[in-house]
Amino acid sequence: MALITNFSYNSIVNNLDIIKRQDISEDFFCKNIYDNPTLYSIFNKLYLRKIYINAYILRNDFEPKYFKKVPIKEDKYTHVFSRGGKPTYHIYEDCQSLNNSYRDFVVPFIDPKRELTLNEVKLVKEFRNWFIYKDFRYKLESKNVKMDDIVFDYNNYFAKKHNLKTLPLDYTFKTNITNSGFIGIQSSFDVNSFKNEIEDILYASDIMCQDENLLKMRNFDWMRKLPKEELLARLYQIFDKNFIDNYGEVNIRDFMNKHYKLRESAFKKTINYLKWTYGLKNKSFNEVNLEHFGFKLCSFCETQSIAI
Ligand SMILES: [Zn+2]
Repeated sequence: MALITNFSYNSIVNNLDIIKRQDISEDFFCKNIYDNPTLYSIFNKLYLRKIYINAYILRNDFEPKYFKKVPIKEDKYTHVFSRGGKPTYHIYEDCQSLNNSYRDFVVPFIDPKRELTLNEVKLVKEFRNWFIYKDFRYKLESKNVKMDDIVFDYNNYFAKKHNLKTLPLDYTFKTNITNSGFIGIQSSFDVNSFKNEIEDILYASDIMCQDENLLKMRNFDWMRKLPKEELLARLYQIFDKNFIDNYGEVNIRDFMNKHYKLRESAFKKTINYLKWTYGLKNKSFNEVNLEHFGFKLCSFCETQSIAI
C-alpha cells in the first residue's frame, strides 16, 4: 500500500504508453469521462490523452508493462540534502517528506547555470560531508548554533582550505524547498459547481470562437510561444493567408493565450472531477508495480518501518 506525491503521480501519467496512437473519440469521452460533447471539443489530442490516462490509472491501478521507467532525477549539486535520484513512494501518511516544504542548505560556491567540472563536483561532495559531519542541520534546529557561527566556520575552515571566496557574515545557507505535496483532492467536491464552472468556460470559449477560423485556431494554441516567423509559416499552412494577415500576429497570440488559459482551467477541473469520482483519496498504489516502474521507498518511511 503505497502513497505518492503529486510530482510522482504526474510522472506516472507522463510515462504511460498505452494509447500513444489511439485517438479518444467523442463517444468514448462522453461514455467514460464526462458526458458533454462540447467539453470534448475544447480539448486537443494531447489533452484528451492525458485525461484518458488519468482515468485509466484511477480506475485500474496500472500495470508496469505499459510504462516507460520514470526518469532518475539528476543531482544538480546545489544543495546539501537534495541530490536527485529515483522518485520515491511512501508508506506512512505522516511521513515528514510528504509535507509541503522542507529545509535544505545551499552549496555557496556553485553557479547553478553552469556545468560543473569534476573537481567542483568533488568539492561539493566534500562540502556536503563536512556540513553533515558537523551536524549543522540538527544544531540549527535545536538552536545550538546560529547561522553566523556556520558562516564563520565555513570562512575559516572550508573556504580557507579550498581557497574559496569567503561569505559575508549575514549570509544564510538555509533555504526552503517546496515539494509537490501528498497527492490530494479536496475534502469535498461539489458536482454542481463543477458543472457550472465547466459551462462558464465553454460559454467563454464559444463567445471567443464565433468565427470558423478562430474555432479551428483554438486547437493550435500550443504555437502561442513560437517565434514570429515559425508561427506565421505554420499558420499559413493551416489557414487562409488573408485571414492570418488581416487578423495579425498580436491578435493571434492574444487569442491563443486567452484560449489556452480557458482550456487549462477546463483540463484541471476535469482531472479533479476524475480524481474525486474514482476515489483517489482512498487509493493506494501497488508497491511492486511502483518499484518495477523505477520508484524506491522513501528513506524517512524506510527508517520508520525499521523502527516499528
Ligand atoms: Zn516517506
